Amino acid sequence: MRLLFMGTGTSHGVPMIGCRCPVCTSPDPRNKRTRSSLLVAYGDKNILIDTATELRLQALAASVTHVDAVLYTHFHADHVFGFDDLRRFNQLQGAAIPIYGNAGTIAELKECFAYAFRGCPPKGCAKPRVLPQVITAPFQLFGLTIQPIEVFHGGLPILGYRLADVAYITDCSSIPSSQKELLRDLDVLILGALRYEPHPTHFNLAQALQLIEEIKPRRAWLTHMTHAFDHGQVEKELPAKVRLAYDGLTIDV
Ligand SMILES: [Zn+2]
Ligand SMILES: [Zn+2]
Ligand SMILES: [Zn+2]
Repeated sequence: MRLLFMGTGTSHGVPMIGCRCPVCTSPDPRNKRTRSSLLVAYGDKNILIDTATELRLQALAASVTHVDAVLYTHFHADHVFGFDDLRRFNQLQGAAIPIYGNAGTIAELKECFAYAFRGCPPKGCAKPRVLPQVITAPFQLFGLTIQPIEVFHGGLPILGYRLADVAYITDCSSIPSSQKELLRDLDVLILGALRYEPHPTHFNLAQALQLIEEIKPRRAWLTHMTHAFDHGQVEKELPAKVRLAYDGLTIDV
């Protein structure tokens, strides 16, 4: 399995429009963060977690030529607004793409992108073709067990995912103990950590590190980060097994 960080930024992205802070103006490419998304390559299949706002740019940057399924964490703009770019993959693959999420996410996708869920488009008019499926339990995808992890983003129940010994949890501010049980013996935990300051709907750095300490994955990468984090500086402050992700980073598992 190969993990590719398509994007590692929070909803505004980094640099933020109109910000001249040292991180937003940094020459370090690791301080340039598009909206968060992960591509999991398993065998010859590509499983995309979320369709972030910059999906087209992310796919071009990483030379992604197919997407075989999409797992959605939740319906927030930064995680879904690349949805329309799926139609290019429909064209390349000549097939509809299965998409998965909890009931609320699938319902909101159908409402927001209603044009994609109405009957056939007029000739010459392309729209995304997807096969929406509501997840309520673990399921098999391309021979891999996908375990949904039910976490809270403030008061909103959203999904993280465990795929074999890898888990991806972003936009999370608390995890029920029953779900923490599903995160035992991880090789890789990818966890959202917004900034140093506390936030009502996201873990900050201290909370993310505390959770990593509790769950004890062998390795951890932080994602969904604001301009509060200078990549080089924050990495010096982290335990050796915890690193900051950056756009384009790949990890072989
Ligand atoms: Zn987000
Ligand atoms: Zn800034
Ligand atoms: Zn969110």
